[in-house]
Amino acid sequence: MQGVYNMYPNCPKCNQDFEMEPGFYWGAMYVGYGLYCFYMLGTIAVLIFGFGLTVNQSFGTALAIGVIMVPVIARLARVQWINIAVRYNKRIADKIAAQDEAS
Ligand SMILES: [Zn+2]
Repeated sequence: MQGVYNMYPNCPKCNQDFEMEPGFYWGAMYVGYGLYCFYMLGTIAVLIFGFGLTVNQSFGTALAIGVIMVPVIARLARVQWINIAVRYNKRIADKIAAQDEAS
């Protein structure tokens, strides 16, 4: 599993299919856009009001950190996107927990 954008085709624990249909994660781009906006606005606000930087300084700093944050936010967006489509199943989670305790 090389690269920050690569994913397992199935969950190693519960065998959930992570590639349910071609292009499934296109929608995660919209979630990622929202997350990135929250990140930028929050970081700029903290840098301006917390550290006393100017608007240009704080925008440049937030962008520089934001380049590092892109893969993190992309993965968070995929997690949120798949959680819209796949429901949490307590029965399967309990079964996996019991298997983990046994081994
Ligand atoms: Zn799983």
